[in-house]
Amino acid sequence: MNYSHSERLHEEALEHIVGGVNSPSRSFKAVGGGSPVAMERATGAYFWDVDGNHYIDYLAAYGPIITGHAHPHITKALQHAAETGILYGTPTKHEVTFAKMLKEAMPAMEKVRFTNSGTEAVMTTIRVARAYTGRDKIIKFAGCYHGHSDLVLVAAGSGPATLGTPDSAGVTKKIASEVITVPFNDIEPFKEALAKWGHEIAGVLVEPIVGNFGIVEPVPGFLEKVNKLAHDAGALVIYDEVITAFRFMYGGAQDLLNVKPDLTAMGKIIGGGLPIGAYGGRVDIMEKIAPLGPAYQAGTMAGNPASIQTGIACLEVLKQDGVYEEMDRLGGILEKGILEAAARHNVTITVNRLKGALTIYFTDQKVYNYDQAEATDGEIFARFFKLMLEQGINLAPSKYEAWFLTTAHTESDVEKTLQAVDIAFKNL
Ligand code: PLP
Repeated sequence: MNYSHSERLHEEALEHIVGGVNSPSRSFKAVGGGSPVAMERATGAYFWDVDGNHYIDYLAAYGPIITGHAHPHITKALQHAAETGILYGTPTKHEVTFAKMLKEAMPAMEKVRFTNSGTEAVMTTIRVARAYTGRDKIIKFAGCYHGHSDLVLVAAGSGPATLGTPDSAGVTKKIASEVITVPFNDIEPFKEALAKWGHEIAGVLVEPIVGNFGIVEPVPGFLEKVNKLAHDAGALVIYDEVITAFRFMYGGAQDLLNVKPDLTAMGKIIGGGLPIGAYGGRVDIMEKIAPLGPAYQAGTMAGNPASIQTGIACLEVLKQDGVYEEMDRLGGILEKGILEAAARHNVTITVNRLKGALTIYFTDQKVYNYDQAEATDGEIFARFFKLMLEQGINLAPSKYEAWFLTTAHTESDVEKTLQAVDIAFKNL
């Protein structure tokens, strides 16, 4: 493939935009460098780049584009918003409709508030948990990503139950000392952390199904134990469903797994492709938020009519019969085909799939936690990524990300993808 226009654009971007990208994960740093491909047009499951190359897309913009690009129902909602005003700074009927839709789909959210991003939503759930409990510390799980607010850019300390260290320059040691990071899917270190700091913990923050070191499901009973132990210690449980809300079913991972948090943060899919976040939870906790309570959270753009109307349109598409079943069916074909191709070419992989989302890890181990994901082969992944790109299959440029199917993918797209996988594995 010829990428000359993408390359030129990247050189120009480097002069004006830091690192040439507006989010680090878009750079090709994790896959051996080079110019990221600049896309020009997208419709359904397809992309065309600035050089005219065509791709089947499994990035789905890191999750939000579950209906495929430029879905007509969402486009119509966006057009309506453009024609009737995209930002009012007043209440609207749309936000009430949408709040009701979210509550109906995820009943643990008794009250909702909209934000502009998943980062803001998670950041505020932590603030509210602190306001409610009068405590400062949080526990989170290694490898889960919760946006880029200071408190969640903290890595594990040296042992399982040690206080964190800053994971980013600019995050103070004092902030890091308020965060404890323990391994996902392992209840003992979590118990240890609670034994040591239980009376200081405001909230336990977790991706109920992990999407940020690949797709990793909780082992049976893990979330139930986390919930119980957290509550016994007087801490709130916060589920970060920014990726998982409406990804696997019409509802959250909490509905799929039948486990209920006190607070939930969401984003991505619920905006139908426009910027959004939302959080919600038990009434008595949510009433701590201004204007009812002392915990402050606000936003000029929050609940803007454009994001809300595209969000409603997206959920209307997802509510149709058979939508999730079809993504699951195609995901199954993809998984089976990938494993068969790996066997044909003696490539060692593990596939973690849940319905329409999957991750290929280059390892012979099962992946349950971040350490295992980290130990998988990034160099082989980088070669695989580039071999797929050259064949017109657009994946996320990181071994930690998922492939996302959308309602726009067809069996024929999946078959073409499997042919590309076969060639990529052959040439690894
Ligand atoms: N939480 C999770 C689980 C995410 O995956 C992300 C983004 O990838 C965020 C929070 C942050 O959301 P946003 O990028 O909208 O700020």
